[in-house]
Amino acid sequence: MKGYYGEFGGQYVPETLIPALDELERAVSCAFGDDIFWEEFSSFMRDYVGRPTPLTCAKRLSAHYGIDVWLKREDLNHTGSHKINNAIGQILLARRMKKERIIAETGAGQHGVATATVCALFGMPCAVYMGTEDIRRQHINVERMRLLGAEVVPVKSGTATLKDATSEAIRDWVTNVDSTYYLLGSAVGPHPYPYMVKMFQKIIGEEARSQVLDKTGKLPDAVIACVGGGSNAIGIFSAFIDDHVELIGVEAYGRGNGKNGASINFGIPGVLHGARSHLLQDENGQVLDTHSIAAGLDYPGVGPEHSYLSTIKRSGYRLVDDSQALAAFRLLNSLEGIAPALESSHAIGYLEQYAKEHGGTTVIVNLSGRGDKDIHTVLEEGL
Ligand SMILES: *Cc1c(COP(=O)(O)O)cnc(C)c1O
Repeated sequence: MKGYYGEFGGQYVPETLIPALDELERAVSCAFGDDIFWEEFSSFMRDYVGRPTPLTCAKRLSAHYGIDVWLKREDLNHTGSHKINNAIGQILLARRMKKERIIAETGAGQHGVATATVCALFGMPCAVYMGTEDIRRQHINVERMRLLGAEVVPVKSGTATLKDATSEAIRDWVTNVDSTYYLLGSAVGPHPYPYMVKMFQKIIGEEARSQVLDKTGKLPDAVIACVGGGSNAIGIFSAFIDDHVELIGVEAYGRGNGKNGASINFGIPGVLHGARSHLLQDENGQVLDTHSIAAGLDYPGVGPEHSYLSTIKRSGYRLVDDSQALAAFRLLNSLEGIAPALESSHAIGYLEQYAKEHGGTTVIVNLSGRGDKDIHTVLEEGL
């Protein structure tokens, strides 16, 4: 069925949005079949974002664990994470669709900053929905978005975090669907978003695959990435999916007290924000409160393709908690001179477990973003 990955995905939206999703699908299929679109995308990736990002051999970290670790450096992208790849792709699409206004949701503010950045670049008005709790926690990113010319719209409903901001953004879209393009930040939401976002993020995997072949002459044994909504993970996984390479997503286990962001490990299939996927919910279908020290992993749902890949066992999903992520943050700083985002620190944090079971292997870790935004959080926990 259209837009499904096994039993996951679909278009669970109010009827008023169906024509908008149809219009988006037509635009996606037309753009993706057009070489000029991809040439434009590539030139922005090269000359604005700074791609290709390096694949760095982490020598001291490798020695520490007794495995060969390569880091895919999405932290070196303009604005500091992989989110800009998708933001550029979607704004090029919005322009082709002749939309006049961009809206987005954000949690930590990374996707909000990426969206506000591309809106400044193309001179388009931009509204970013953000929970008041996140506005309080992520003040610098709020000010960055305002400097870039975006309007930050506070959302007070529910827990005043990402889930609620996303619901509000969808509400805005329903009301202003003719003029407005909804620039969604992860591989979630109704079809065609999960597919489209993967197509913009798969550049990570394509580069990493050819770089690792160049540098080592072979494919890695495993590719490891953190999973919030799942866009950086699906982006790097997609290039290795037909190979004999283990694909490992790392979910946030929070403080290990039942509140976490580990939808695939602990969720049950359900519908949130327009798609069916693993969802953290109680027995009455109420969405559970989540927690992760990494704001970008603090979300009760996950992209439908990850739900599918987990059910067919093509990829595995492991757990790393707040304190393991913090330890990984410090370790990468001290051994490699790299401050990873706390999200990416979950992927690094899994290496300890992995190395115990797989000595002597070669792995690529997707370093989805840089940790400057997280220094204050780490300091609050004490060096
Ligand atoms: C947003 C974010 C994530 C989580 O989002 P995915 O869609 O799962 O990739 C991970 N890392 C960083 C640095 C982020 O900003």
